[in-house]
Amino acid sequence: MASYNLSSALTAELSELGEYYAGLFCEGSETIHPHIIAKGLGLNYTPNNYGLAFEGLLEYKGGKFHVFINTRADEHLYTPRVRFSFAHELGHYIIDNHRNALMQPGVAPHGSITLMSELRIEREADLFAACLLMPESRIRQDVFKQKFSFALIDMISKKYQVSITAALLRFIALGNHPIMVVCSRAGKVVWRRFNEDFPFYNLHTVGKDIVPVNTSAGDYFKDGTKYDRTETVFAEDWFILQNSNDRGRQFFEHCIYIDRLKQVVSVIWER
Ligand SMILES: [Zn+2]
Repeated sequence: MASYNLSSALTAELSELGEYYAGLFCEGSETIHPHIIAKGLGLNYTPNNYGLAFEGLLEYKGGKFHVFINTRADEHLYTPRVRFSFAHELGHYIIDNHRNALMQPGVAPHGSITLMSELRIEREADLFAACLLMPESRIRQDVFKQKFSFALIDMISKKYQVSITAALLRFIALGNHPIMVVCSRAGKVVWRRFNEDFPFYNLHTVGKDIVPVNTSAGDYFKDGTKYDRTETVFAEDWFILQNSNDRGRQFFEHCIYIDRLKQVVSVIWER
């Protein structure tokens, strides 16, 4: 369960870069389309079904860059997952260090696999993608004086045509309300992200990263129970308490389920 953060200077830089390119090529359009930005940059791309090989790939060959974008069955350039992968590849092209590294002789292009890779350059490209598709100034306007609810995240995801997870991570990064997001797969916590001002840190996992039982996510792994609305949980159910006075503090938990991956993403915030 690795977790580290990029420096605030780099975060600010990528935010500005995303904002700049979104404004340059998609001014006045609510949804930012990576393929339109690629066109604007004179960067060629090929969407195709590449099976499980990669999500996206930026190749440098014969003095030219080319983006290969994996569109599997029923996917196209407007599918949220594909849009994010495309924006991620644009990151490798736009971020100086990434582009320069690819131009070195003998460097093979690497296929980018998934959102949430722990490799540093992948984290940077993911952050760039988030900043491009959900520019900071636009998101700040959307969440200004809004009370946090899952509906707010749902709105961001629909408005910017990104996955719920991408919208959640962006919301955490801009952090105007403390939330924690925990992703569990097959009964184990695989990653978590939270704002600095979230009141708890350590999860009440049993043994090695096992999802706590008295939680909505725990119910799913116990007997397949799914909740289609926000549930109430207690601090001690999800977290290890440092202070016994915290016992009984009420939190909300809202789950997003992907059965195919046996995956639950829990969004947790204080009631
Ligand atoms: Zn990548």
